[in-house]
Amino acid sequence: MNILDIFNPATGAKIASLQADDATSVTDKAARARAAQPGWAAVPLTERAACIKRFRAGIERDLQSLAATMTRETGKPIQMSRNELNGLLGRIDFFLAKFEPSTATETVFNDAGMTEQIEHAPLGVIANISAWNYPWFVGGNVYVPALLTGNAVLYKPSEYATQSGLEMARLLHEAGIPRDVFITLIGGGDVGVALQAQRIDGLFFTGSHATGVKIAQALGPKLVKLQLELGGKDPTYVCDDANPVAAAASLADGAMYNTGQSCCSVERIYVHEKIYDAFVSAFVDTVKGFKVGDTLADDTYIGAITRAPQIDVLDRQVADAKARGARLHIGGERLPGPGNWYAPTVFSDVDHTMELMREESFGPIIGIQKVASDADAVQLMNDTRYGLTAGVYTPDESRARKLLAQVNAGSVYWNCCDRVSPRLPWSGYGDSGVGLTLSTYGIQTFTRPKAWHLRQP
Ligand code: NAD
Repeated sequence: MNILDIFNPATGAKIASLQADDATSVTDKAARARAAQPGWAAVPLTERAACIKRFRAGIERDLQSLAATMTRETGKPIQMSRNELNGLLGRIDFFLAKFEPSTATETVFNDAGMTEQIEHAPLGVIANISAWNYPWFVGGNVYVPALLTGNAVLYKPSEYATQSGLEMARLLHEAGIPRDVFITLIGGGDVGVALQAQRIDGLFFTGSHATGVKIAQALGPKLVKLQLELGGKDPTYVCDDANPVAAAASLADGAMYNTGQSCCSVERIYVHEKIYDAFVSAFVDTVKGFKVGDTLADDTYIGAITRAPQIDVLDRQVADAKARGARLHIGGERLPGPGNWYAPTVFSDVDHTMELMREESFGPIIGIQKVASDADAVQLMNDTRYGLTAGVYTPDESRARKLLAQVNAGSVYWNCCDRVSPRLPWSGYGDSGVGLTLSTYGIQTFTRPKAWHLRQP
């Protein structure tokens, strides 16, 4: 029997031991989902929607305890766990409002006894392999629209957010989603590998680029729909006409929220030389105000590093930046345990020879680089293999639009950052992935457009 031990990254304490899946149980679960899916697709839309409404009500009812569970297993500060769950309620409302109009059968031609229609048929059985950093968001972005559109879901939460995954299953089943229509798989990468080997109709993955590539290689010959939502190295440029203090406050939050462990965390900042010093000083002042510590305390802003190995990545980036001449203003070291802690870290005088400005940090650490012109900023923002989000701070909307039009990123921001909207598609350029979630496109993605050619006798 496989056992998955769950640890609290903020304290190092073991908080649970769960029975994990193995190749045999994964095959069994996939077969159950396959058998159940046609029945679920035949359930009237209003009933499917009613289940998701009850799921939403369950999240609202249990929000405090769900937030505490998420905080204990991921090290996320409790206020941010609550924010995530509250934010998910709005996303569910969007899906409930839009799934029917965006997947209704369309008649595209009707003349002389000939009718042509596009039906949005469910994909069938989909696998959802998820990340730990926003377990309710990244899971819900997939399984809520997938279930509404008639799919069965094999959901593998991250091994660092498994208890939250089990809570999702409990609430979905309580809400009336049949047990074989939403099934969780417990375990790490080996369970993800076993899941890929099953007969599935789509795989929706959120996680690192390295894992995404492995999945793409394994799934290629199976010819099933594959979506990969991967990492980023998201840049922002602060123009010479921006307010340096306001921009610094906004971007410090964008870089450090969720302890910098967001796919769309601000990871690189470029500031025009005219306001560079004022910006760096205001940025460091803001970061000094962030409270680090007890993840269950309401005023804690910086929590634990969820995965212990990431601390080595942060140490490496810090050492490399220092060795190449960057100026360290604050932090730059791991904090004493127990648990996994890293001090909020700010570097200036950085450049693209440094790993800090090239590879995803996924922690509370940031480099701020001086630039001489808008053209230089655009060139540097695009000097990356990723392309998830990018932003520009300036009071001048037309300047921002002109700059952002040249940047290769799935989402672009003017005077804001680290923001996701259910109404807009979430996707990336380059190594940030393929496919999308959210928006009406992120509902249709769980369907296949089936072409109907109907001639009257
Ligand atoms: P990860 O790649 O380590 O793990 C993600 C999931 O894949 C886990 O459930 C894991 O068990 C599973 N897995 C591991 N190896 C596997 C394999 N060989 N086959 C199948 N499944 C396997 O990523 P993580 O640490 O959970 O997440 C952090 C990463 O996710 C960051 O790079 C972050 O930027 C990215 N992310 C992206 C988005 C987005 O929307 N683009 C959102 C959240 C997180």
